[in-house]
Amino acid sequence: MSKRDYYEVLCVVRSVSEEELKKSYRKLAMKHHPDRNPGDKAAEEAFKEISEAYEVLSDAEKRKIYDQYGHEGLQRGGAGGGGFGGGGFSDIFGDVFADIFGGGGGSRGGPRRGSDLRYLLELTLEQAVFGVTESIKIPTWDDCSACNGHGTADGKKPRECPTCQGSGQVQVRQGFFVLQQTCPHCRGRGVSVTDPCKSCRGVGKLKRDKTLEVKIPPGVDTGDRIRLSGEGEPGDRGAQSGDLYVQINVKPHEFFERDGSDLYCTVPVSIVTATLGGELEVPTLKGKASLKVPEGTQSGKTFKLRGMGVKSVRGGPQGDLICNLVVEVPVDLNRKQKDLLRAFGEAVDGDSGKHTPESAGWLSKAKQFFDKIA
Ligand SMILES: [Zn+2]
Ligand SMILES: [Zn+2]
Repeated sequence: MSKRDYYEVLCVVRSVSEEELKKSYRKLAMKHHPDRNPGDKAAEEAFKEISEAYEVLSDAEKRKIYDQYGHEGLQRGGAGGGGFGGGGFSDIFGDVFADIFGGGGGSRGGPRRGSDLRYLLELTLEQAVFGVTESIKIPTWDDCSACNGHGTADGKKPRECPTCQGSGQVQVRQGFFVLQQTCPHCRGRGVSVTDPCKSCRGVGKLKRDKTLEVKIPPGVDTGDRIRLSGEGEPGDRGAQSGDLYVQINVKPHEFFERDGSDLYCTVPVSIVTATLGGELEVPTLKGKASLKVPEGTQSGKTFKLRGMGVKSVRGGPQGDLICNLVVEVPVDLNRKQKDLLRAFGEAVDGDSGKHTPESAGWLSKAKQFFDKIA
């Protein structure tokens, strides 16, 4: 049962649309792609996991099977799917495999361990980078006070289920197999309640929201998850509770895009500053920083602010902030401004590309190209 939930792998909720699924897959696949992480075993594993999850969830048929039966459904479907034939396939699945594999964790025949719960927690980039304590509301189940948790109208201990003698499980023959199944009479509770409690409808437990303080360590990123052991669904009849997985999803930031430990930021710069050089104020997660722009800086030039990135929760050095300068062409000029620009154009004209070597080089290459095809 070590395989992770496919939805969790792709950082999406179960009701995700095809389009959103694709988007999330692309983002994650890009992040963990082996080409971008040469020699990184963890990234390679993550990439495989992401690809496998997407292969299943992007296929409507497979997704349906997965939603209903989980990983096992797909394994069995792949191995023996052809043999069953016809529309009865998923019915057989429901009866047989769901009970063999269902539940997960608890020993067969014994009380069932509670299910794991998943909570998708959205954080701002700042919260993810510096850590935060978040209050989250999760469902929990209390013993019903009206019936002392027995599920009976009179609040007394109910008698043993006659069908399963209190074990909650029955054996059924299916062809050559003898299978353990949840007792259909008491639904695995092992007791027979003839007059159920009105508050809890005989379940013995009532659901309520509880607030949990979750400490998010600094440096987490989208796709990370934090396990809170024992905070999942309670198990049946005293069995172990499931775990709660808090899955992190970092919201897009106004300025920064994160890739591993590095942050990326696009900084527009005026044509004047780019040409003459100057100093720019750029945002960082710790406030303003000043960036020296040298004379003659071209659009697309990147500047690295060392140590202004993220320190990953997984360790490693502090990342950098990479500023990508984009020269902005002025718009909406008045007549005087245009005249000045024309005068400037005339002043540099005839210098045979001294001031614009890129364009000059490109133009001469283009000329050769045209000569060849002419
Ligand atoms: Zn029973
Ligand atoms: Zn009750």
